[in-house]
Amino acid sequence: MLSSWPRASARGPDVRYSLPMSGQLVRALSAIVGRENVLDGVVDLQTYEYDAYGERSLPRAVVFLRSSAEVSAVVRLLGAEGVSFVARGYGTNVSGGSLALDGGVVLEMGRMNRILEIDISNRCVVVQPGVFTLDVSTALAPYGYYYAPDPASMRASSIGGNIAENAGGPHCFKYGVTTNHVLGLEVVLPDGEIVWLGGKNVDRPGLDLTGVFVGSEGTLGIVTAAILRILRSPETVKTMLAVFASLEDAGNVVSAIVAAGLVPATLEMMDGRTVKAVEDDLACGYPRDAGAVLLIELDGLSDGMDDAAEEIAAICRAQGALDVRVAQNEAEQAALWRGRQGSFASTTRLAPNYMSLDGAVPRTKLPELLRRVSDLAQEVGLEVYCTLHAGDGNVHPCFLYDGAEPGAKERAEEASMEVLRICAGLGGTVSGEHGIGVEKLEAMHFVFGENDLRVQGFIKDVFDPRGLCNPGKLLPSTEAADG
Ligand SMILES: Cc1cc2nc3c(=O)[nH]c(=O)nc-3n(C[C@H](O)[C@H](O)[C@H](O)COP(=O)(O)OP(=O)(O)OC[C@H]3O[C@@H](n4cnc5c(N)ncnc54)[C@H](O)[C@@H]3O)c2cc1C
Repeated sequence: MLSSWPRASARGPDVRYSLPMSGQLVRALSAIVGRENVLDGVVDLQTYEYDAYGERSLPRAVVFLRSSAEVSAVVRLLGAEGVSFVARGYGTNVSGGSLALDGGVVLEMGRMNRILEIDISNRCVVVQPGVFTLDVSTALAPYGYYYAPDPASMRASSIGGNIAENAGGPHCFKYGVTTNHVLGLEVVLPDGEIVWLGGKNVDRPGLDLTGVFVGSEGTLGIVTAAILRILRSPETVKTMLAVFASLEDAGNVVSAIVAAGLVPATLEMMDGRTVKAVEDDLACGYPRDAGAVLLIELDGLSDGMDDAAEEIAAICRAQGALDVRVAQNEAEQAALWRGRQGSFASTTRLAPNYMSLDGAVPRTKLPELLRRVSDLAQEVGLEVYCTLHAGDGNVHPCFLYDGAEPGAKERAEEASMEVLRICAGLGGTVSGEHGIGVEKLEAMHFVFGENDLRVQGFIKDVFDPRGLCNPGKLLPSTEAADG
């Protein structure tokens, strides 16, 4: 919740109310999807006025969609009426990406939730955008395959939302983030045209428009189907927990492991405060007195895995690890992951309010970043809890505060913005996976010059010249610079 959000839209009596829906527009939408698939009553709409970011903006209407043809027809109709629209998966994004600003219409994609094809020979699946992320791997398990990107929210987030946000997760360190697993997309463009970008072939001529779409936060069109790359399930998985006295020690190990030529499947980190919060909440077997822990998972062939694990343990010890443990069975592995995946909830339950962000730095800069974040938290007098996809240099500092305390929210906002400034200054970036949304518009200026942003604006204009597709997200206005 950074300072770019218009103050007038904050919680309470100054919530923005939507423009009323004209009876004519309701009738026209109902003619396409059925009256039962259009919500326009205020109480119904309030269910859709927020996402996991926490701010609110009431939509003008919500439309439940079941096919690409329906999406196309609805988008054409809204275009003719000059009404903006935003796709919504399951609203778990933490940057305000699925908020309908200024009375836009929400296109609810959750009912397009079928796995259309499992194509083992071509090592891909074709899915609708509303499929839950975890359901892809669950459907593939009997075939001995899985889908690698694994956001901690994978039980609750959609493939469409993951594609829009270019979601990351623990296994993305070894296998790459969502964009590395999307082969093709069916997309409804903002003028209603249905097109395919990419396909089952890995290498295709022409511009990589699939790549442009992934991570565009729903601002270039609506994804209605996706071809996803799948991987063979590993023969063996070994999960290790390395315990350190300080975050800095743990941060140093991350670079040391990679520099030794070892590529574990995951290199996740939690600071001591987070470990304690997780243990208090979930009792997963983490040491309460740790200054930091690394959750390291190896996957692949059984042959040689014990040697690799021993090599990693030796590096951890050489860098000051107090203890290195190996999970002895699936139950212990699952418990360690339950703690990591539940860390956000275990932490944020400790205070009435929080601000959590996802800056990223080159992994060699992690120790410096973590030290500066800790100093900053002390300076502003707030508690900070850090979890990291450490292998990717992706840091999630979470500042806890009580919104009822005068000035606390402002201090958390300032600290959060300062963290992003530090990340940019260390050669990193302002969002490793959560997206810009409305949250970090200002921070885009830390990593892009006005000309860079203008070029991105040109691309947006090519797809969406009327600016009706998820307006107000991702790209800050460059009007000032345009003079
Ligand atoms: C507890 C918790 C843990 C999380 N952990 C992670 C994590 O480890 N890694 C990570 O990357 N994120 C994480 N997130 C953030 C969030 O889950 C991801 O951003 C996710 O990709 C959002 O999916 P969604 O279906 O909820 O999309 P929504 O929140 O509904 O939408 C997100 C964006 O996608 C767009 N969109 C949705 N569907 C479509 C479509 N069909 N076509 C075009 N645009 C579309 C929306 O317009 C919006 O801009 C976490 C969130 C929570 C609450």
